[in-house]
Amino acid sequence: MPVPSFTSRFLRALPGDPSSLNEPRQVRGALWSTVQPTPVSAPTLLAWSPEVATQLGLTEAQVRELVPVLAGNAPPPGVTPFAANYGGHQFGHWAGQLGDGRAMGLGELNDLELQLKGAGPTPYSRRGDGRAVLRSSIREFLCSEAMHHLGVPTTRALSLVQTGDLVVRDMFYDGRAAPEPGAIVCRVAQSFLRFGNFELCTSREDHALLRELVGFTLTHYFPTLTTAEALLLEVARRTATLMAHWQAVGFVHGVMNTDNMSILGLTIDYGPYGWVDDFDPSWTPNTTDAEQRRYRFGNQPGIGLWNVERLGIALLPLLGDDEGKIEAALLEYQRTFEAEAGRRFTAKLGLSPREGTVELVHGLFSWLATEETDMTIFFRRLSEVVTAAEPTDFPQALREAFYGAPGEAHLAAGLAWLQAWWRQAREEAASPRQLAASMNAVNPKYVLRNYLAQEAIDAAHAGDAGAVTELLDVMRHPFDEQPGRDRFAQKRPEWARSKPGCSALSCSS
Ligand code: AMP
Ligand code: MG
Repeated sequence: MPVPSFTSRFLRALPGDPSSLNEPRQVRGALWSTVQPTPVSAPTLLAWSPEVATQLGLTEAQVRELVPVLAGNAPPPGVTPFAANYGGHQFGHWAGQLGDGRAMGLGELNDLELQLKGAGPTPYSRRGDGRAVLRSSIREFLCSEAMHHLGVPTTRALSLVQTGDLVVRDMFYDGRAAPEPGAIVCRVAQSFLRFGNFELCTSREDHALLRELVGFTLTHYFPTLTTAEALLLEVARRTATLMAHWQAVGFVHGVMNTDNMSILGLTIDYGPYGWVDDFDPSWTPNTTDAEQRRYRFGNQPGIGLWNVERLGIALLPLLGDDEGKIEAALLEYQRTFEAEAGRRFTAKLGLSPREGTVELVHGLFSWLATEETDMTIFFRRLSEVVTAAEPTDFPQALREAFYGAPGEAHLAAGLAWLQAWWRQAREEAASPRQLAASMNAVNPKYVLRNYLAQEAIDAAHAGDAGAVTELLDVMRHPFDEQPGRDRFAQKRPEWARSKPGCSALSCSS
């Protein structure tokens, strides 16, 4: 069967760059530039996602047939690869034009855009080489799919192709640059538009272009909305909901710059992200942010709000310059976050919202943060506690979540909390078994722990990509018991505490 043909609403509807000069430059008055992927020497398909292929209407044979396309070696006939033009606030400061420096859109299949990440330089590459290394590509491929299966809005990944070429990176930013294997991920989403696409138009006072972009966004992705004001409110809601999802699963994005914020409220641009092993609100995986900790776990909801405000300012020319409309969107964000985060944590604890529930949740947060306690294991094991008799000792099932050996006072405080929680949960439950099942449906057993991804990366570097596929397979069913796969549900081993890639990640990718 031939591969279906691609379309591109984005290219057809919106103004592009008249120049095709592929060198770093400022591109004005245009939302994209045509580009050509730079061929690679020996593409090999290391892994692919069956669910994404199905969504695109592709069979396994077609995915394999597409490998030259997925490697950037042979754009299909009729396809115009393009790089999008956007700007962004990076670490709190306006950074000007950024753009797709290594990502290239291929167009759409079934209304989903396909994008190659790491396919070579574009006019937006600045000083970068347009390539991506295997380790960061494995991390993006696996985490996009893991997040989807957890129910978190995200861009998806169709394929992971090793290029056969080497890419030089200074991983620790210490002057010891070294060659590493290169790779390309084919990402998939309804749209890859970011807050930064809108911000760039406004920063250049190109209000006509801004209007065109907002019109396009409304028509194609928010067909029930008609105004910039409604768009801002909806993006505020979606962003707040996304933050509630991240907090509830313990995901830390690491680089929440406005060029990495999706207008659709998706998790986008997996870089130095990480999963909190122990529930530590001050933790950030990103070594570049180790001092300031702007993007730490506990700060994500606040940064989401700050980013929505940046989007609001970018849309101001279409809001009649009425700052009250930005205020309204920020209020909507706060209301939504409180409701969504409250709902998620209440469900994780098997409770329904009522008087005292919020205090119970906050009481748990401060107790969890006092001693290193594994978030995933703690929440998952609560279902065992709720089906047993009211605890009179600190339960064994939960002791396994501790990284250290907490003292008696901490255990006593934990037991007091557990007893109060147990009583409320059991009082509301028709059947303890049903309650446990509903808790297990929202407290994953398997998350893409940083060290698990690193083990798969080490195996792939040694020539065994089977570990990536196996890990993907585990992450496709995060809420299920998977007999024989308990090793994927263990807390972070001691050796991984400070190993690069397992606890700290650089932006070098
Ligand atoms: P990120 O922090 O990965 O979201 O990237 C920020 C900006 O840098 C985006 O405009 C990227 O396209 C660009 N960029 C990152 N890595 C590279 C690279 N290796 N080559 C070219 N551009 C890059
Ligand atoms: Mg980015």
